[in-house]
Amino acid sequence: MTDSAPLVAALAALSEARRVAPPRLSADGVASAILDVTGLESGAREALESAVRAALLAVPGVREVRVVQTAEKAERRLIAVGSGKGGVGKSTLSANLAIALRRLGHRTGLVDADIYGPSQPRLMAAEGERPMAHDKQLLPVMTRWGVPMLSMGQLVAPEKALAWRGPMASGALGQLVDARWEHVDTLVVDLPPGTGDVQLSMIQKHRPAGAVIVSTPQDLALIDAARAIDLFNTAGVPILGLVENMAGYVCPHCGEVSDPFGQGGAEAEAARLGIPFLGRVPLDIAIRRASDAGEPPAAGEDAAAAPFLRIAEKVAEALKH
Ligand code: ADP
Repeated sequence: MTDSAPLVAALAALSEARRVAPPRLSADGVASAILDVTGLESGAREALESAVRAALLAVPGVREVRVVQTAEKAERRLIAVGSGKGGVGKSTLSANLAIALRRLGHRTGLVDADIYGPSQPRLMAAEGERPMAHDKQLLPVMTRWGVPMLSMGQLVAPEKALAWRGPMASGALGQLVDARWEHVDTLVVDLPPGTGDVQLSMIQKHRPAGAVIVSTPQDLALIDAARAIDLFNTAGVPILGLVENMAGYVCPHCGEVSDPFGQGGAEAEAARLGIPFLGRVPLDIAIRRASDAGEPPAAGEDAAAAPFLRIAEKVAEALKH
């Protein structure tokens, strides 16, 4: 190696000089520089690289310039929301969990990977909005609840997504997860029900920080949920806990809560399976109405938000361990 001081001096005039580590110069005249291009768009990256090349080539004794670009990968944790079967309220829970986590101060985004029924655009009041792409990266749609979102339903007509298998579904999931989430630090992923290709791809390629399993009291009795739990357990993805949805019926007339399927079953089942119990959400017509209207209960100020906020607190706590 020869003295690299002239190289450092040559770069000093560049406005982005701080992004360039002190270059090295080999004895045969090859200068090597490492550029930190974190946060720059592709045009700016190329412009910076050209400027560095030109500046270094102008230094006497430099015959060739080699440049390597590096960028910090944003630290982002994924929370996979799964269920044994459809219709148990997994999408409802995902939307409300994302909003509740945001209310607790987490920079939260929402991915709707449910190819069988992508319902997040409706739940989040963003129906008909199409994400733009930039540099081959999708730009999430900002919802009115402050949670950016991307859905399989925005990529393709629902009936087409249904036919996706293996590589297609896995590729689409990759596009959603690796979109330009910018400062989002927590990504809630609404998975399809069951244990198929999208779940495997999620586990293998995107390594969730943890999984939340949603179940109804009946679903638990049918052990579907246990199968979903087993999948994450086997893959070494921590189970953050079980949510019991539609647990107890809230009478729309008097507000009394009754338990047609008995009480405490899910909590006992969670204990038997050795996973935390995150809480219960009652079967409440108000939840269905609000969801259909694109007004997630977790965003409101009334009692309906409470169960979701409690669940989000427990999820956030579980993520610390
Ligand atoms: P999944 O994602 O598991 O298929 P959804 O979240 O789409 O289930 O919920 C299925 C239906 O049940 C929707 O119409 C939704 O509004 C309704 N629903 C979900 N949770 C509740 C609840 N706790 N009380 C009343 N209706 C609910």
